[in-house]
Amino acid sequence: MVNNKQASHHGGLPTTLILDIPFSTLTFAETVDWCTQRIEAKEATHVVTANPEIVMMAQRNLSFRRILQEAEMVTPDGIGIVIAAKWRNQPIYERVTGYDLFQALLQVGETKGWSVFLLGASPDANTGAEAKIKERFPGVRVVGRQHGYFPPEAEGRIVERIQEAKPDLLVVAMGAPRQEEWIARYREELPPMLMIGLGGSLDVMAGKVKRAPQWVQSIHMEWLYRLLKQPSRWKRMLDLPRFLYHAWKE
Ligand code: UDP
Repeated sequence: MVNNKQASHHGGLPTTLILDIPFSTLTFAETVDWCTQRIEAKEATHVVTANPEIVMMAQRNLSFRRILQEAEMVTPDGIGIVIAAKWRNQPIYERVTGYDLFQALLQVGETKGWSVFLLGASPDANTGAEAKIKERFPGVRVVGRQHGYFPPEAEGRIVERIQEAKPDLLVVAMGAPRQEEWIARYREELPPMLMIGLGGSLDVMAGKVKRAPQWVQSIHMEWLYRLLKQPSRWKRMLDLPRFLYHAWKE
């Protein structure tokens, strides 16, 4: 569809700006292909999977906003983003959630023999996720891992370990904004690889946290399911209506 508000391009990627964040408008399958090409070409790539909460965080925190604007790709992680894009008449076809993208990349990695480094989550969830990857994707090599509860003085050594391991894919699962800040701070020191912040995905992979059933996801109520399962998140989730309000005004 051609209209006078054509999606802009962000480093060759078709995007639409939502509250100053350049969201990729690629479908899920196209996103997986794009990430695959970047990995195979060994191009340093920061992927942010951004939900409304992250967009609101970026509204309040200028340096975090800059990190999102400089990332090679920001994917629409949540139905709120898809709705906001529709209001702008620059449709995003579907959600691209962190967990689903992670699974899809592991699947591709299985055939390509990719290596992965897992940084973040509790020690238990971190080892649990590694075990699940070995079981479900034996073609993927886990070349290093580190739980996400380390002191600042351990960072240098962790960066060295990632440099030595040279993974194709670096998963940073320490929650936003910490994971994105971590990637932005160290990306220049790391070999070229795909770096992605994946929030609670290692917890889900390890079976510590359950994702909403498929039918709940298909009626776009995953956010409600998460709220009911982890009521302590209610304060964070106020960002969803706030996001919709600001996106509507925009
Ligand atoms: N986490 C971590 N280090 C920290 C704080 C959190 O590794 O200092 C991990 C935590 O164990 C969890 C993930 O980061 O696995 C954050 O999960 P959350 O559900 O908050 O992320 P979301 O997907 O909502 O961004």
